[in-house]
Amino acid sequence: MPNNEFYLGKTIGIIGGGQLGRMMATTARHMGYRLIVLDPTPNCPAAQLADEQIIASYDDFTAIKVLAEKTDLVTYEFENVDLEMARYLEKQGCLPQGAKSLEITQDREKEKQAMLASGQAVAPFKIIKTNDDLIEAVDTIGFPAVLKTCRGGYDGKGQIKLTNKADLAEAKTFLAKHQRLIYEAWVSFDCEISVVFTRGIDGAITYFPIGENVHRDHILHTTTVPARVSPIVIDKAKQATEAIAETIGVVGTFAIELFVKADQIFINELAPRPHNSGHYTIEACNVSQFEQHIRAICNLPLLPIYFHGAAVMVNLLGDNIDAYFSKCERLERAHVHMYGKGQLKPKRKVGHLTFVDQDREQLVQYLKQQHLI
Ligand code: AMP
Repeated sequence: MPNNEFYLGKTIGIIGGGQLGRMMATTARHMGYRLIVLDPTPNCPAAQLADEQIIASYDDFTAIKVLAEKTDLVTYEFENVDLEMARYLEKQGCLPQGAKSLEITQDREKEKQAMLASGQAVAPFKIIKTNDDLIEAVDTIGFPAVLKTCRGGYDGKGQIKLTNKADLAEAKTFLAKHQRLIYEAWVSFDCEISVVFTRGIDGAITYFPIGENVHRDHILHTTTVPARVSPIVIDKAKQATEAIAETIGVVGTFAIELFVKADQIFINELAPRPHNSGHYTIEACNVSQFEQHIRAICNLPLLPIYFHGAAVMVNLLGDNIDAYFSKCERLERAHVHMYGKGQLKPKRKVGHLTFVDQDREQLVQYLKQQHLI
């Protein structure tokens, strides 16, 4: 892509039409881009804001070719884009993020190897393909541990926690189903944080403030910003980010989830796209993770980032939404985002709330008093 080609007013294709695609689309629209979303579900959340939807499955090569023909550049809202198709788009010169970051992040084995190659600390792990591998992992890594599928897991799907030998029968059944797993030591972390950042095509990085994440049943429940971690941890997290971004050749908004124990960090997971823990940036920063993403892939200069001082994001799931919407007062300080999903299913993310303040302690105290967190 020539450096002076800003793609202003052109058409962006988005693979995946869920909430991340929808929030990208909202931003891209106010920036004046046209949008075409590829998603198998008619009128999916992002399609409700797009100029056009290509209704097709994600592995439909013909549909991807049509998307490439009809658009000037393509991005995605999830990492499980078919690699062959991503390479095709890259060859066509319309995938500014490249195929490599997808290749690495869509497979936990490759992701772990890339982390080790770039000198990062990760929880002790072993790749498991047979029952013998499993027994060996139990001997060397021990309990508690977590077994994760190498591909396709999200929001707690594709992982089981193992506490003792009694869990091995379930582990063997899980292995028989998935064939290749990661056996990972359970980290007794002090907190989980995520670094959400954006890297331009020129390699320049801008960081959003680091958020502290609380998960429930492996699904993100809240992100509170700023994270209560030491300056040493912040420095280490940024150094790790630079090394990872360089190794992978990141372009666009990207998230790194980390476990923090005292001043140690362990990289847990990478996401080559805007991330749930970065939603607070929409109201709490001068530029959101989505706008910065669109700027990066369109080769526009990245904006410097300013933050109001404090934010809490709460995910709304099909099964907790009533608790927030039952009384109007509960929303008096909430920015409400609903994703336009047809059905409210338990454990399914259907929206989020963001609360913004200048002071973290005051905000957290208010939210606790109101039983909002
Ligand atoms: P993941 O899909 O790997 O991000 O896992 C989802 C959530 O499960 C994480 O954010 C943690 O809260 C928990 N988790 C996953 N792996 C581990 C681990 N090795 N040690 C402790 N908690 C974990």
